Amino acid sequence: MTLTYERALERRTRQVLAEAVRICEIPAPSYREQERAKYVHGRFEAIGCWDDLRLDPIANVVAVRRGVEGASRTLVAAHLDTVFPDTEVRVTRGRGRLTGPGIGDNSVAVAALLAVGEVFRDAPPRGIGDVILAANVCEEGRGDLRGIRRLVKDYAGQFDRVIAVEGLSLDRVQVGSVASLRYQVSVTTAGGHSYGAYGRPNAIAALARAITALEPLMPATGISPKTTMNVGVVHGGRSVNTIAPYAAFELDIRSEAPATLASLDRRAKRAMREAVAPIEGADFSIRRIGNRPGGRIERDDPLVGAVLEARGQSGLREPDFGFGSTDANLPMSLGIPATCIGVTTGGEAHTPREWMRTSPVRKGLPYLGRAIANAGRLSR
Ligand SMILES: [Zn+2]
Repeated sequence: MTLTYERALERRTRQVLAEAVRICEIPAPSYREQERAKYVHGRFEAIGCWDDLRLDPIANVVAVRRGVEGASRTLVAAHLDTVFPDTEVRVTRGRGRLTGPGIGDNSVAVAALLAVGEVFRDAPPRGIGDVILAANVCEEGRGDLRGIRRLVKDYAGQFDRVIAVEGLSLDRVQVGSVASLRYQVSVTTAGGHSYGAYGRPNAIAALARAITALEPLMPATGISPKTTMNVGVVHGGRSVNTIAPYAAFELDIRSEAPATLASLDRRAKRAMREAVAPIEGADFSIRRIGNRPGGRIERDDPLVGAVLEARGQSGLREPDFGFGSTDANLPMSLGIPATCIGVTTGGEAHTPREWMRTSPVRKGLPYLGRAIANAGRLSR
């Protein structure tokens, strides 16, 4: 008897756990995912059955399977990168857990993606549109969503919906993303002796004006959409008897509403520039160090419906609907229906003690497969 798609996935649980360990033990900090990407590409190659398979120039691995004409086309993305440095990783097993940096975020999701690919070959789900399976780079912090950005651009017009996969998000379904912008704001002057060169511009004083200019723009607490602004770090100056030649601060602006973020961003920059402009000899610069776009998906969107149906079919509880910061942010920000789901639970992500539970994968894997199949049966 041939196995159904869902049963075939369930049967691959142990294989997925072993694969997650192998993937995890190949270090892959953001921007240095090449080795892990090559390994995953090789695994996709071994599966075969792709209409297109590639390792793109920034090390995104992309496997495309053509489906039924007219049915919804889905981009499924699981990030390769971790927040950990390029050092040896060892995964340990015990008490229903796997422990290792990056095991849940996001090695197990990449392993699950490979299992889905394999089952596409052995017991393909019926009636679904094209599926683009991507193991992408640069989701984490300083990666700034570089991988998914490129995928969304390169495959524009070839997909209708996006499912991002985060290993530890089995109990969560992402329905929104908080947009954030981060800057380093700095002032440079000639400096000089505090007594001998007295009268020259002071970078700290100039920077203080910029910070003070933000004060009246600070969003009130409790407003909707929630919007925040924070000066998180200040540094500068040289010594007590030197006219400060340099000073800088880091600014973080966030909002649940992209339009509100954009407007506050404009006003904040203008206010800071105007505050510093009158000081002659002060070189003022605003450098962006982070940009995560925001957006949302309605709870009654067909994609959320497809995911919830998959939860029911897989015997999973009602999820927590929440805002998140994942690869789904980017398509959401462009108005493309997108969400992020997971395959297991665990904790201590982004620490060396990161761990995941092994038993939920038995349900999590068919859940992911069903979510992809259900989404692929939607109309475009
Ligand atoms: Zn992650």
